[in-house]
Amino acid sequence: MEIFKIIKLLKGLFTRAAQETAIPKHTPNVIPRAEHCISREHINPHALKVLYRLHQAGFMACLVGGCVRDLLLGRQPKDFDVATDARPEEVRRLFKNCRLIGRRFRLAHIIFGHEIIEVATFRTHHDGGELEHGKSRDDGMIIRDNVFGNIEDDVWRRDFTVNALYYNIADFSVIDYTSGMDDIAAKQLRIIGDPDKRFVEDPVRLLRAVRLAGKLHFTIHTQTEHVISRHSHLLEHVSPARLFQETLKLFHEGATIRAFHLLQKYHLLNSLFSQTAACLDQPQTKQLVEQALSGTDQRVQEDKKVSSSFVLSALLWRPILQHASHAEHDGLPPYPALEKGLKTVIEKQLKQLAIPRRITIAIREIVILQHHFQQRRGNRPWRTLEHPRFRAAYDLLLLRAESGENIKELADWWTQFQAADHPTRESLLREINHNKRPVRRRRPQARRHKNLPVNKTTLEK
Ligand code: ATP
Ligand code: MG
Repeated sequence: MEIFKIIKLLKGLFTRAAQETAIPKHTPNVIPRAEHCISREHINPHALKVLYRLHQAGFMACLVGGCVRDLLLGRQPKDFDVATDARPEEVRRLFKNCRLIGRRFRLAHIIFGHEIIEVATFRTHHDGGELEHGKSRDDGMIIRDNVFGNIEDDVWRRDFTVNALYYNIADFSVIDYTSGMDDIAAKQLRIIGDPDKRFVEDPVRLLRAVRLAGKLHFTIHTQTEHVISRHSHLLEHVSPARLFQETLKLFHEGATIRAFHLLQKYHLLNSLFSQTAACLDQPQTKQLVEQALSGTDQRVQEDKKVSSSFVLSALLWRPILQHASHAEHDGLPPYPALEKGLKTVIEKQLKQLAIPRRITIAIREIVILQHHFQQRRGNRPWRTLEHPRFRAAYDLLLLRAESGENIKELADWWTQFQAADHPTRESLLREINHNKRPVRRRRPQARRHKNLPVNKTTLEK
């Protein structure tokens, strides 16, 4: 037993020595309360409570990350993260409403009803190799990151300088080790440390760069920018589950269209939506996707709900249509052709992003409704109208019409039908049933479609 304790002690000593040689010592710039704009009025009262209690118990307690950055920019932070030198068990002892989470790196969640304040013990950035609990692969990518440290260590493991500012509750100052305050003033994102190394360590930082630049209207520092394009392929090494989580954040921050253009600019789109990226040189695809994303941003700005399944359906619609068109060309009738296109595209997409099943089911419904919109005879439109995904599917129908698909009459009819009262709807249906001659179902021959353009299916006719 004793021998294990001695080994652990020695290991700790070596670990500490390794950290001390790896991380240069810096003197921080401490900006006193009078010289910055963060007021306690703008800090979440629960976060303040947590900070004060830690401080009164003799620990260092700071706000850190996006909340400090946003407060300095006069923006409403999304969440308030606390960093401290108290170990997770010490945090737990201070708060009855505390739950420790994470097996390898323990974080404390302090729970106030529906609100959670996350408290993290300062961690260290480790420089390759294998430390006590931190580990990186031979290629430099971090796979474990859980060595406790002090505030100075904690700074260097963060991604961008503007995300590494600490608001210290002890004297309300802002502690700045990386010239983050200058970058806030210049509105620029600059990766901390060696850009090559930091993006290799965690390629998700590539996506964080475009997401934050889009959301904050920041530019990306030239050196950081240069490295992003060079390392775009690294996203292929990130798990589809993590990529999906990051992609989802892009859709919900009201700046999707800017982030989307940055994804294109830095060649990152291909690692998230390769099939969409391959169609974007077609003006119709570009218009449909851009309109869907701008519409999403507008909804966020108006505080309306954003449906991820709608955004994903819009992004995947043209690749699905292309596959469906090929299948029709090979002789499949329109409906099975559409189903086949859908299946092929979703299967391929899942290799890049781990879209949860409930969302792929919703995408499927939205896409299949595009076929049902054409079925206007008999009682079918009533059923289509009652479908839980009608609204999202109708929005996609409108985008398709606006982006130049030959379905304007169909989209206008549905606009009228869904807005009308019951008698008007019945007369619209009578008109359709009267005007349309019964269609003789015939299995299309491959040869009959020989000259059909690739991106034109029966759906568009
Ligand atoms: P948002 O406003 O979108 O929440 P954020 O910067 O706060 O932006 P979070 O995911 O909440 O993003 O992360 C909190 C902080 O943790 C960041 O500000 C940054 O300091 C650090 N961080 C998050 N992800 C990484 C990463 N991949 N690499 C290094 N540091 C990171
Ligand atoms: Mg945050």
